[in-house]
Amino acid sequence: MNLKTDLYINGEWVKGNGVLPVYNPATGTVIAEVQTAGDAECLAAVDAAYAAQKSFAQTAPRVRSEILRKAFEIMIAEADEIAKLVSMENGKVFSDAKGEVLYAAEFFRWFAEEAVRTPGDFRKSPSGDKRILVTHQPVGVSLLITPWNFPAAMATRKIGPAVAAGCTMILKPAGETPLTALYIVDVMERAGLPKGVLNFVLPSKTGPMLSKVLHDPRVRNLSFTGSTEVGRVLLKECSDLVIRTSLELGGNAPFLVLDDANIDEAVKGAMVAKMRNGGAACTAANRFYVARSVAEEFTKKFAEAMQALKMAPGLDDGAQLGSSVSVKERNKIADLVDASVAGGGKIVTGGKKPEGDGAFYPATVISVEKSNEILRNEVFGPVAPVVVFDTDEEAIELANNTEYGLISYVFTSDLARGIRTAEALESGMIALNRGVVSDPAAPFGGVKQSGLGREGGFAGIHEFLETKYIGVEI
Ligand code: NAD
Repeated sequence: MNLKTDLYINGEWVKGNGVLPVYNPATGTVIAEVQTAGDAECLAAVDAAYAAQKSFAQTAPRVRSEILRKAFEIMIAEADEIAKLVSMENGKVFSDAKGEVLYAAEFFRWFAEEAVRTPGDFRKSPSGDKRILVTHQPVGVSLLITPWNFPAAMATRKIGPAVAAGCTMILKPAGETPLTALYIVDVMERAGLPKGVLNFVLPSKTGPMLSKVLHDPRVRNLSFTGSTEVGRVLLKECSDLVIRTSLELGGNAPFLVLDDANIDEAVKGAMVAKMRNGGAACTAANRFYVARSVAEEFTKKFAEAMQALKMAPGLDDGAQLGSSVSVKERNKIADLVDASVAGGGKIVTGGKKPEGDGAFYPATVISVEKSNEILRNEVFGPVAPVVVFDTDEEAIELANNTEYGLISYVFTSDLARGIRTAEALESGMIALNRGVVSDPAAPFGGVKQSGLGREGGFAGIHEFLETKYIGVEI
């Protein structure tokens, strides 16, 4: 396997100030040791990105587009190998990992197409005194910070638009899953990205070292995906130099099954919305609100489907539910379930932490009251609390009763009722009669404390572009 473990700064693979072990969470064994960055390496990454910015911004859009297209082709050709790596360091099953890699590659294809289509505007001012010319320019050096749950897709969802827009970058992946990010850096190098444009660091002291980066006036943009807790810290860090930020943060997605829903379709949707990535997705359905008249049938069929999943190490044949990313993360899930049961939740299936070294937790369905504590937390694992409701208004109120607002799911046979419900739900995305909505061609992002800005779609490139207005005397 093409395993890169060095830092990548100014087009060179270099050593840093130490090493960080990377574990396979299904077995607890070390799979690699990755170089960590000290202050000197972080500064060198900013130097390199800043030095490359001017010339990269001047590259023809077609040239940047073709680099992304090449990167897309490499990722597709090597998808199985990358998926194995994702599965090994993240714990997710191979089929989920392969799905992620194909999705990740699509961001390169989409932004290869977007690179050559940036719109502008030229018109007469209403008073007729001048012409209004609007154009877009790259924001500049961008810090990209990614989480462990989608180590490939969260990196390409940022690198793709940054390259398309003409921004240079410093990429900082999660310490649990740096190998996939390193693989993608290598893909970009092979696709012909000029040196200095993309730099990779893994700081030995994340908070303090990245704080310095965000207080360097040469850095102009932060694109962060991760928890709301860390997002808040970074938003404050960015306020000192008024750094542009886009934040894709946590979620606590409600999944509404209205009384006229097709229950088999709703169960199929629930399995995808809950179990893609073993439940470790910001988009994962986290609270199931089910109309009283269909609650028994839905809960029974859903619990049967959950129970039937084969839990095993991600690369084992037939594995459908892999491990969490670490024992620490797995224990958080187990603690939330235990607290929910102590608060009156009734286990329908699962709910028991297995023995052994791997970071496993079984697919779990719990029947709970609407006041149960688990409904306030992002579980980030294969756990589905089910609550019964009586009216659509009640369901909408319960769904909106959270500081998060990333995605909501609605199942109903009546399209008009579905649209009305979708419009009343406070979230950036709605899945209507579907278990998944993520698409590189659609704007992904949340409202409330789920984030700022959108990734993907036509909006995605604008997170890396500034709008410039030129008033022209004619
Ligand atoms: P996290 O917030 O703990 O870490 C995310 C990244 O931030 C990691 O690279 C981490 O090393 C880094 N980080 C941590 N502290 C930092 C600091 N003080 N300064 C700078 N960087 C810091 O999140 P996680 O546990 O890796 O990922 C899970 C979270 O990510 C969940 O809340 C999930 O909902 C969210 N997420 C959101 C989206 C989205 O698009 N909205 C997508 C995937 C994951």
